[in-house]
Formats: sequence, C-alpha cells, structure tokens
Amino acid sequence: MTAKFKTNSNPSLTTEYNPLELEKEIRQFWEQNKTQQKLAKKLEENNRGILGYVEGPPTLNGIPHIGHARGRTMKDLRYRWKTMQGYFIPFWAGWDCQGLPVELEVEKLLGVKNKRELLERVGEERFIQECKKAIMKYHKEWVEVDRKLGVFMNQDKAYWTYLDSYIEREWQILKHAWDQGLLEEGHYVVAYCPGCQTSLSSAEVGYEDSYKEVEDPSLYFKFKLADSQNEFFLIWTTMPFTLITDTMLAVQPEAEYAKVNVNGETWIIVRQRVEPVMQELGIEKYEVTETVLGSSLEGKKYDYPFKDLIPKQAEFEQKHPLVHKVICEDFVDVNTATGVVHLSPGNGEEDFFAAQRRGVPIFAPFDDEVRFKADAGTFKDMFARDADKVVIEELRKKGLLVSAKTVRHVYPTCWRSHHKLVWLARKEYFLRTDKISAKVLEAAEKVSYFYDSSKNRFMSFLREGKPWCISRERVWGAPLPVWACGKCGAKTFVASKKELIERAREKPEGDFELHKPWVDRMTLKCNKCGGVMRREDFVLDTWHNSGASPYARFTDEEFEKFVPVDFLTEGIDQTRGWANTLLLEYVILTEKADPPYKSFLFQGLAQDAKGRKMSKSLGNVVEAGKLLEKYSADICRFYMLRKCSPVDFINFDLQELSRRSYQVLSTLYHLSRFFVQNSEYDNFNPAKHTLVWAENEHQLKPPDHWLLSNLQTAIESYTAKLETCEFNSALAVLEDFAIETLSRLYVPMVRKELWTDDPETLTRRLAVYAILWHALKTVTLLFNPVTPYLSEALYQKVYKKLDPKLPESVNFESWPLPEEKLRNRSLEENFQTLFKCVSLTYSARQKAKLKRRWPLSKVVVAASEKVCACLSSVEELFLELANVKNAEYAHEPLTGLPSEEWMQTVEDDIQIFLNVQRDEKLLGEGLMRDLARRVQALRKELGYMPSDVLDAVHIAELDEESVGLLEPYLKQMEELVRTRKIRLISSKDDVLQWHECQMDDKKILVAIS
Ligand SMILES: [Zn+2]
Ligand SMILES: [Zn+2]
Repeated sequence: MTAKFKTNSNPSLTTEYNPLELEKEIRQFWEQNKTQQKLAKKLEENNRGILGYVEGPPTLNGIPHIGHARGRTMKDLRYRWKTMQGYFIPFWAGWDCQGLPVELEVEKLLGVKNKRELLERVGEERFIQECKKAIMKYHKEWVEVDRKLGVFMNQDKAYWTYLDSYIEREWQILKHAWDQGLLEEGHYVVAYCPGCQTSLSSAEVGYEDSYKEVEDPSLYFKFKLADSQNEFFLIWTTMPFTLITDTMLAVQPEAEYAKVNVNGETWIIVRQRVEPVMQELGIEKYEVTETVLGSSLEGKKYDYPFKDLIPKQAEFEQKHPLVHKVICEDFVDVNTATGVVHLSPGNGEEDFFAAQRRGVPIFAPFDDEVRFKADAGTFKDMFARDADKVVIEELRKKGLLVSAKTVRHVYPTCWRSHHKLVWLARKEYFLRTDKISAKVLEAAEKVSYFYDSSKNRFMSFLREGKPWCISRERVWGAPLPVWACGKCGAKTFVASKKELIERAREKPEGDFELHKPWVDRMTLKCNKCGGVMRREDFVLDTWHNSGASPYARFTDEEFEKFVPVDFLTEGIDQTRGWANTLLLEYVILTEKADPPYKSFLFQGLAQDAKGRKMSKSLGNVVEAGKLLEKYSADICRFYMLRKCSPVDFINFDLQELSRRSYQVLSTLYHLSRFFVQNSEYDNFNPAKHTLVWAENEHQLKPPDHWLLSNLQTAIESYTAKLETCEFNSALAVLEDFAIETLSRLYVPMVRKELWTDDPETLTRRLAVYAILWHALKTVTLLFNPVTPYLSEALYQKVYKKLDPKLPESVNFESWPLPEEKLRNRSLEENFQTLFKCVSLTYSARQKAKLKRRWPLSKVVVAASEKVCACLSSVEELFLELANVKNAEYAHEPLTGLPSEEWMQTVEDDIQIFLNVQRDEKLLGEGLMRDLARRVQALRKELGYMPSDVLDAVHIAELDEESVGLLEPYLKQMEELVRTRKIRLISSKDDVLQWHECQMDDKKILVAIS
C-alpha cells in the first residue's frame, strides 16, 4: 500500500492560505492515490457495522444549483464522519432519468410546443434517444460539481432509473401491489396539466411552489327553480366552463337558507351570506322574505339552461332522476360565496364522489388536450378554459348572469410547466394507497426526523392518504406493465422482460429495451378468449421510479444488508415527493408497517441573499459549478453548514461567504503553520514526544491541562450535535474551541515559551508541541467532514510530514473520542475566574489609557476566598496575562480608591484595584515592548521565518530620554526579537535599508541586518 502512495508536490504550507490552489492540489492527490476508492474498500472489508444508504436521485433535467450543493454537503459530511467512526456506507450515486421533467426539458431543446407536435414531428423513437442524450449531458455537470465540492460519492456504482434492470425491479414492486389488489384501473378525478397533457398525482399538486397567483373569472349566476315563475338559486364560480359538465346543485342540509327578494325576483342563498353577497353585488334594495332549512331544498329541480346547446345534457336528465336536482352534502361551505354550489362530477373530486354515491353519470367530454369532444354540443373543439367566455355570454343571453368580474387568487399550476391545472375525471391507474394509509402512518411514526416542524409537515401530508395516480400519458418513462384484451377486456400483469418474451404472440427480433415504442410492439394472447392483448398506453409516474430505489437499485442480497437505510436527507419539498413514495412503495413491497429509512432530515431550501426564492425569471439562481470555479469548496461547505440550521431556509450571500468562514479556516491554517515551523525547528518527534511523555517529564502546566480538558468537552458536544443534525451549533462549538480557546487564549499563554532556542527549556517546548500536536490534530480530524480539503492538506503537510508512519489520508483516521481522564472540571472553572479577573484588569487599564503590553507594578484583588484561592493557584499566569509584577488579595470588600495611583473595576463580587503609576523601570520595559512589537512586524513583513536569528537590529532617531529608559532592557529585547545585537544610533546611515515606524507621537527608524 505504501509503495503506491504518492506524496503531494508541495510538502509545506505556503505563507498565505490560498484555498483554491490548495483544493486543486488535494483533489489531484486524492485522484492519483485513489483515496476515495481505497477508503470505501477498507471499510467494506473491515468495519464496526453497516449503515445503509440509498441516494435520493437528482433528476437529470438541469444543472445543480446551490441548494443541491448544500444537500450534497450534508450527505458527504455524514459519510466522512461515520466512515471515520468505522462504519461502512454504500455511498453510491443514483440518477433519476425519466419522466415529465426530462421530457419537458427535451421538448424545449427540440423546440416542440406540446405532445401532439412531439409525436408528429419527432416520433417516439427519436425522442427517447434525445432524452438519453440530454440526461448524459446533465450527468457530466453533476459529477463535476460533486468532484469540485469534494463529495466522496461512488459514481461507478451509480444506479440509473431508465435501465431495464432497474425497471424490472420496479415492476416487481408493482407486482406486489397487483397481487394485493392495490393496483387498479379506475375513473377518478385527477389533476391534469393541459400543457404536459398528462395527469399528475395529488402529491404533485402543491409540489415545489406550484401555487401561483392567477386571474380567473368571478361569476355570479342564477339557475331557475323548475315550475316556478321567478325563484332562482344564486351560485358563484371561478370556472364557468364547468357549467357545461354541471349535473347537480348541492346545499348544506343543516344550514338556514334565505329567500331574498331582489327586484321582484326571489333568490335562494344561505342566510349568513346574504349581506356580504348583496354588498359585493352592489344591491342595496333587497328583503329576506323567508328562511328554510337546507334539507328542505333536497330534490328540488332546476332548469339547466344549456339543454338546447348540449343535447347530451337533455338526454341525461331524461334517463337519470337525480340529474339537475338539488342534493344535500356536508362538504358545502357556507362561509364563502352563496352556500349553493353547482356540481360537475367530470371536473371535481367531491362532485365526482357525490355523483358516484348516487349513480349519477359522470360527464367528462374532454380529449387529451382538454378540448371538448362532440358530446359537449356547441362547445365541441373548444379548449376548456377558452369556453369560459362563451359560457358567460350564453348566460347573459338567457338573462341568468348576475355579475361577471375577475378575481386574482392563488391557484394550483403544474409544477413543471406552470399551466393552470384542471380537474378531470379520467381513466387512470391507481395505487390504492388510501387502503394502506394506517400502515403507512404507523411506519412513518417510527422514523426520526430530528426537527418537529418537518415531521409535522410530513405527517399531515401523509394523513391525506389519497389514492396515488401512477399512470402518465407520456413517452419517456418506465412502461406500465399491464396488457389488456381488446376483445373481452381481461387484464394481465407482466413482471419481467423474460416473462414478456415468453408470453409474446411473436418473439421479438433481437434485443429490445423496456421503453416505448418497442415494448408496445409486444402483444400477448388472451387466456380467456384468445383475443389480442395490448399494453395499456401509460408510463409510470417518475416519482414511482425514484420511490422504488431502495429495492430497485440493489440486488436481493444488498437489499437485505442495506435496507432499511440509516439516514437520508433531502429538501423539505420532498415530503410530498421522494420521502412519501419511498415509504408507500416499501409498505406495499413488505406488507409491513415499517419504513425503508430510519431517519430523514428535511433541509430548508436555498434562497438568494435577500431571502427571495431562486428562480430563472429573477435571474438569481446560483449555479454550483460556476460558484466552485471561483470560490473554495471548503469555505462554501463551512458557510452553508455554519450559517443556519439545516431545516432553515438559507439566504445564500456571496458577500458573507468570504468573511467569517474564510477567517475561521484561515486561522486554523496559520495556527497549524505556526506549529509546524516551530516544532520542526526544535526537532519535535511526535512518536516520542507524546502527551504521556510530557506528563512523565512533569512538563505540563495548568494551561495545558485546561486546554486538554476543554478539548474533551468540545469533542463530546460537537459529536452529539452532529448526531442530532444540529450542524450549525456543532460548528459553533468547534469554531469556539479552535478560534477562542486554542488560538486566542492558549497560544498567547505559551507563545513566549516557544520564542527562544534556549537548550535548557527545550523539554518544556517539546511538551508544548505535544499539546499542540494533540489539540490541533484532533481539531483537523473534527473539521474533516466539513472542510475535507483543508483537513487533508494540514494532515499531509503538518502531521504526516512530522510523522510519516501515519495513515495515508486524514480520512483513514479514527473519529476522536473524549477521554475522561483528561477532563478537569475544577480547572476549567478556575480558568474562567482567571479570564474574568484578567479582563477586569484590562478595563482598568483602558480607563487609565495604558496599553496591555506596558507592564504595571501591582494589582489588588478583593473577592471571596474561593476566587482568591483560585487566582493564587495560577498566580504566575495571572500576572503574565494581566502584565503586572505583583498581586495581593483581600477577602473583604475594599471601600474607595486608596489614592489617585489606583484604578478600580468591579464585576459581581470581584473588585480589582490596579496601580497605574509607572516608574522609570516600568516605562523602560513598556517602551522596549513597543519597539519589540515593531521589529516583530517588520521581521514578518520582510519574510523572515520565526526561527531565523537576525544579525542585528538597528534603531535610529530615538530621543535621549528614551535611550536611557531602554538601555537596561536591551538584553531582554534581543531574546524577544531573536537577534544577536541591538544597535541604538542617533541618526541613520545610508548603508542600511531603513523603515519608518510610528511610535505614538514620535517617528523612529528601524533596520534589520
Ligand atoms: Zn405541465
Ligand atoms: Zn380476452
């Protein structure tokens, strides 16, 4: 294994953190070393358990946007993390290839407007080739985004829903439904898209922002009571064309209805709506003459006005006693409109069931383009919604129109083409999922959803429990494997290609694929009458394709091993989509109340920086591929996970991306660089200089123990929050440890100890490196699921560089576990007190306008015994951080300032008195610190390594007084800035390269040689 291992080209960390460069290099490293493949193989062979996974297949009808990238980041996070914990996950890709979304995309590419034009101009055979071409084009884009984003998904083992092998397994699930009597043909009212010319499932209505504000007619009209002179029912509708298919009126039996006198006519309307309706119609003079119970209106006949235009309606009225009569129904809403509704069983679900219960015929004279057929008489060949205005005109002619306005309201449109949907009674194939609803709900209850809001949304959708219309009148899809006899109507189900060939009347020549038109050429012989059976001309709902994946994408053996899968995550819109169909099909397949997934995290969707939905029309869609050309994958990943909770909608803001997220990763980078440079200089050997070694050498100090203790807390809390999918809070914990605890607090406490090459303190320095190695390496591992590139880079260029025996990739490391023996809670508490007191001395300094690096003589702390004891236990550290020479403690509160020399600050029960008077010694040391800081900055600016020792530092143009103050501290300064000599000269010479430095109000010159 090591022989094949190739090291990266640049073994050191460059001065600047340049993530794009770094990621390119690491990607190359992974690809050359086949890291992803080796990792998967290693865990497949040796693991502590299997966590099943099935990819929620993206539809290959477009390129990935930032919302997809966010979801894929969460999937990859889980994969890398659980892999480090030792689990094997079949993290294999999958692609949704068929169905309406792909067909519409290809229609657009071919410049075809509708299905009829498609079949005439392009033909099924070529269309299917074009669909395959299109998905392959998009597939390339998706794989490239995965690659750039650093997603370790196995692309070689991807499943494709259009392959025969997949379709055959999908058919086997359907066979279970068929055998249980759950797959049946029926007339139902379905949502139908006139644009796509296919029906949709009820789950698709309301999917992905499909409700749009549209303008419709708002029509009040009246139907006359038969055998009356001037009594009318007043009715309201937004779909005038449904008057053509009207067969009944319905009222609420329990409600009171009023007879209202308007201009000598009597209008019947529910009592509680009289005033608002009259107001809306602008009728001021009216009178309620009588009220009756809704139930008393049952059976009343009304004059259907279009019998002359639609002879079929007259025929219905003659043949069926209930046609054009009033019925009572509880679903009639008396809080809107007039409380009298007209029923069109051919165009409404409730209307349909009301008619079916009474044996009233369903009148649905529509063709596939939603044009009226010959049965609609005068209206023949009109598109349904175009008939609206004709109906209004006819009502006006007959004196039945009361008011015709328009209304803007929210109405469901097709989620793909955004045509207004119409409801039509059609012959379709249904999965009778309504019959297994209880089982489905029970199964759904067993799943963990992490957040209540998404669970509630999912459960309330499932409770609708409607039959699932799975037939689509389209071309590019898995064919419905039902053949029907043209003679006797018998039906048969075919479960595989092999079975189809065996039963075919004529064997096909050569191979054929399980798609239209080839599969349609296969005819069977009817067992009952010997007639010819042809395939029912439907393809399956594409949601049925993806919903079959836990079974269809695996072999039987894999299915046993991996399903139910452990964890899935998809967008919140998938409550109506994939999460739903997975569940339904699995319950059908297993006949048990069990879910195919143990947990499901629904993600909030991605919006633009202003919180607007991303859409092509607004032009604010962030394409993942383009983004990742310019921006670092690590920073994008970190940003998307850190910014908000995964269930929240994320307002993706490019401005924010480069700020905090960059800073955090950059700090980790530079901290690691600081560590590797210093430790290499001192020949630190991680194999030898371990934590145990440092402990045995008695080299560990309170800050070290404190850091280690904090690290354990961070590991525990970070891991727990990953487990509950609180990714943003998890990263807050990790960020706090890396940036606050490690970089801002710990490193300053030990930096001075590292800033020397004194052989006498080498052991202590090595001990500090042991601590830093342990803490920083752990942080690097914890970051790996989030920022895999940076973690791998640091792993290679810091840890593996110092210890070549380490595994070949950070991904091969084990997930850190908190160690109880490194915990010290009282020390953590003491340090909290310490930092509080230090910060109080800072505020005292601020009041006195004294810089932190200027030493002061004394601090007095008046506080409880506990606080004082705690401070004196870490007094050395306290004095150093506060930059004070001496501390005194008082257990009693002190009143007032002893003199003007003192500055006081108070918080809770802690009083701090700081002596702010500085004598010559303190002034001199302070000046030395100021100068040292300038020199340090200059060293860095001029590109010296921290370990480089300078020949000399030259300082010119200091005034005499300053020179006098400074002189006693020159030795100390030489050590601090790592130089052999410091020269103070009165004026500059021309030999050296001088640099001007501003010191408070004075200017001085510094040169380095
Ligand atoms: Zn459509
Ligand atoms: Zn037959």
